[in-house]
Amino acid sequence: MQLADTELLKTQNYVNGEWRDAAQRIAVCDPANGALLAEIADGSAQDAQEAVQAAAAAFDSWKSKTAAERAAVLKRWHQLIVENIDDLARILTLEQGKPLAEARGEILYGASYIEWYAEECRRAYGQTIPTHNPDMRLQTIRQPVGVVTCITPWNFPNAMITRKAAPALAAGCTVVIKPAGETPLSALALCELAARAGLPAGTINMVVGSDAAALGRVLTQHPQVAKFTFTGSTAVGKILMAQCASGVKKMSMELGGNAPFIVFDDADMETAVSACVATKFRNAGQTCVSTNRIYVHESVHDEFVQKLSAAVAEMKIGHGCDEGVIIGPLIHRRAAERVAALVKESVDAGARVEVGGDFLPTGENYFAPTVLTGVTDDMRIAREEIFGPLAPVQKFSDEDDVIRRANDTPYGLAAYVMSESIRRANRVVEALDYGMVACNAGVFSTTVAPFGGSKESGIGREGGVEGMAEFYETKYCCFGV
Ligand code: NAD
Repeated sequence: MQLADTELLKTQNYVNGEWRDAAQRIAVCDPANGALLAEIADGSAQDAQEAVQAAAAAFDSWKSKTAAERAAVLKRWHQLIVENIDDLARILTLEQGKPLAEARGEILYGASYIEWYAEECRRAYGQTIPTHNPDMRLQTIRQPVGVVTCITPWNFPNAMITRKAAPALAAGCTVVIKPAGETPLSALALCELAARAGLPAGTINMVVGSDAAALGRVLTQHPQVAKFTFTGSTAVGKILMAQCASGVKKMSMELGGNAPFIVFDDADMETAVSACVATKFRNAGQTCVSTNRIYVHESVHDEFVQKLSAAVAEMKIGHGCDEGVIIGPLIHRRAAERVAALVKESVDAGARVEVGGDFLPTGENYFAPTVLTGVTDDMRIAREEIFGPLAPVQKFSDEDDVIRRANDTPYGLAAYVMSESIRRANRVVEALDYGMVACNAGVFSTTVAPFGGSKESGIGREGGVEGMAEFYETKYCCFGV
């Protein structure tokens, strides 16, 4: 791999300030063509335990620093990420597949959490509470929870780490991170930059391993862990929640979604199409807030489908490092085959392919960006998270009915509403049972606002002041006078 700074290509686990090897190694490959990128140390449950112990040992000293001291280190980390963006983006695109422009966007987005929480930690205010008893004085103080363990997915291998590690470290917690096996190199490069920025040994630890379940058991159940935070599928999240229960660990869960995208007859069509393209096809549809069900009012359905299909037909497909590419490969063959099966099942049940619909000769993990019409709510494509470049369109005629259909899912992460009517927009945004609703916008995630879901899409929030609160314990202090 060609990098300006070859020291950013790390292939070992990072425990207690040291890079450590393992007896076994795991291959990391480019999903676009299968090329071997690196072989990394296969971390064990023992490594995870030692990482937790190191984080516990480092906690007292890190939490005792002033907010300004912690902020100074975090700001150096932010600065180093920005300075090394070219190398970081190249690593990310090579191991994950998304186009370079998207990789750069993710890295700046990820880094913005570090900068923002470096500032926010100065405002960990407690309260003085009007007393119920003249002989007592009541206060609250906010203190870091302790050792925080994190498990993250492959679809945003940089930002899903910083969204957790930045507020945790800023609050005074120490962290152990297990990144996804598909994308460890982005994570390890971030860790190298954290070390260069001056995060003391033990404050940040990273363990990558092929036995995710064994590592997960340590990170959810070790007695020295105070809080566990996970981003990934709902199925795995449920297993990890159950594991957390045995030790009553605090936890946050950022899980899967099934986002409805509703286009009303009073929508601005250009806005609706470009928002749909942005939410549906970014990262080849492999985002948790990706549009999963498109409901279009029957009076504008044909116009919307024609414009969306025209935009999709023009998308350049190829290796994420190539100029102008919009759609890269899916993460692995299994993912591409699942998407192909969803198309086939839908077509067999009466849906129609407007554009795309098949694998591509570009490589075995490539699937064409696809628009389907005639989809119905009972099809698997409408009930499960697609996680691929398929845009399934349905018709609706009535506002109440489309709200009911949009809410008819166990998921509650993101939803989208396209309407120029301020009255309707307010009504529908309030009625949608989701953690986040975007109106006349396709990309909405930002450091300064709380990101997270309701129902089976998760527990807790990342970003904004809410994201910081996840890493504090509020202590009530009562003083007799
Ligand atoms: P996944 O659940 O398969 O894996 C996520 C992480 O969990 C990986 O690090 C994996 O190694 C680990 N893991 C898997 N099985 C485990 C086990 N038994 N014990 C411990 N760890 C285990 O998810 P994925 O395929 O990597 O990511 C895609 C999913 O993530 C989608 O469902 C997507 O919606 C979700 N996601 C959610 C958000 C959000 O903010 N809500 C953001 C990004 C992705």
